[in-house]
Amino acid sequence: MPLRHSRICKGCWQQMHVPVPLHGVLSVPFRIFGIRPSRMNPNTCTICELMFTKVMRTRKINIDATVLFADLRGYTNLSQSQSPDAMSGLLDAFYDECASAIWECDGLLNKTIGDAVMAVFNFPIKHGDHARQAVLAARAIQQRWSARRKSLTDSLGLAGADLGVGVGIHSGELSFGEFGRSHRDLTAIGTVVNLASRAQTAAAAGEILVTQAVYERAGPELAGSRAHQFQLKGFEAPTMLYAA
Ligand SMILES: [Zn+2]
Repeated sequence: MPLRHSRICKGCWQQMHVPVPLHGVLSVPFRIFGIRPSRMNPNTCTICELMFTKVMRTRKINIDATVLFADLRGYTNLSQSQSPDAMSGLLDAFYDECASAIWECDGLLNKTIGDAVMAVFNFPIKHGDHARQAVLAARAIQQRWSARRKSLTDSLGLAGADLGVGVGIHSGELSFGEFGRSHRDLTAIGTVVNLASRAQTAAAAGEILVTQAVYERAGPELAGSRAHQFQLKGFEAPTMLYAA
């Protein structure tokens, strides 16, 4: 499914009310000055990235946001028996489907870590209901991937491979900034990120697990979802997670 890209930068429009064209003839003079769609979210631009970088040179910022982790199950096992080409084709397709789902819900595809992706919602594009947006993105990831998986595993000769996706989501205040000395990395850190990552680990293939905070914020979207207690690594008290 092709992505519907925004014609102007959503970040610049929302924060400064400046229409920065991202596509077509109008964007040409902008591109000469290096202003182009961001690789983390093509509906925002490189000015947006630069703004964050500048803010963060002096200090990190704390934001209320939602973090999503999606992980391709069984990838590591499979990579021991398959060709590197087949495996990278699989991973590219997985990243593509995740990116499309995340961008359609105005999230930032912050990182790809091996066979997992990490996304942040409510930054830089603001959404009052960012927790719900993340849940919608997670469902879209599951739908897109299950539609794509079969033909992909067939064409790559991986028939019978399991390859479901586990997703974890958590909301709250986190720090966004440039961390690391040798390798400067624009990213989010904090307990919210850790718990989202742990929720993802607890999710089975095909499952989406969200925290109490996400459950409360997402409202009717998660009405009737079942909760279970999990003992997550690094967290002393048991954590309640809801299936979305
Ligand atoms: Zn912008």
